[in-house]
Amino acid sequence: MIEISKLVKRYGDFTAVKGIDLVVPRGELFGFLGPNGAGKTTTLRMMAGILKPTSGSIRVAGVDLIADPAGAKSKLGFIPDRPFIYEKLTGAEFLRFVAGLYDQKGDDVEHRARELLALFDLEEWRDELVESYSHGMRQKLIISSAFVHRPEVIIVDEPMVGLDPKAARILKDLFREYTHRGHTIIFSTHTLEVAESLCDRLAIIVHGEIKAYGTMSDLRQQLEGGEKGLEEL
Ligand code: ATP
Repeated sequence: MIEISKLVKRYGDFTAVKGIDLVVPRGELFGFLGPNGAGKTTTLRMMAGILKPTSGSIRVAGVDLIADPAGAKSKLGFIPDRPFIYEKLTGAEFLRFVAGLYDQKGDDVEHRARELLALFDLEEWRDELVESYSHGMRQKLIISSAFVHRPEVIIVDEPMVGLDPKAARILKDLFREYTHRGHTIIFSTHTLEVAESLCDRLAIIVHGEIKAYGTMSDLRQQLEGGEKGLEEL
């Protein structure tokens, strides 16, 4: 579903991402685990088509993201770590607005928006302005917005940050349901517990390079020092 080859990002003299190769198949819940500054956000932003790579290639559902950004982006939903949200829209209007960016409207969108708002306990707030939402409610609305147009791939930067335990559990279930239906989810985290509880496979990224790659048990074997090496990341 996503294929990355020799992906590089330089900021001036500094190389934040140093030639990443990766294939994430359809239906997989894939995580990037790494410490602060490892290059997770930079990699996800390139995969989402909002940051231009210095070199390398990215294909989304067979579409070349560099050559056909609009075609590739139509297959993607992206939730950044610091998302933008329109304060002067209501929750329902915001979801409608996001669906409209992907040329989707009508009953299907209304139905999906209702379902998502109910799932995250925002039903009673659907007609309230976003400016009156708490931080956690905004976070839940933003997550809902990535699902409303049913993209083939969802890319999420640090999905669990800012969510209360109930919302985190709902999000995990939503991720699972979504991947079982054949969609693909790629997310980043700096927390081993989040990676362990969520992903099918993951890549450990340190200083812009993938140090290990596979299922959690593959990784424990690959990393020197076994379990201790993984937890120390
Ligand atoms: P975090 O969990 O802290 O967000 P991360 O793994 O997502 O970390 P990135 O945000 O991708 O890491 O940053 C990777 C490296 O690139 C860091 O050293 C960061 O300081 C640097 N970097 C990121 N954006 C820029 C930029 N616009 N200009 C210069 N350097 C940058």
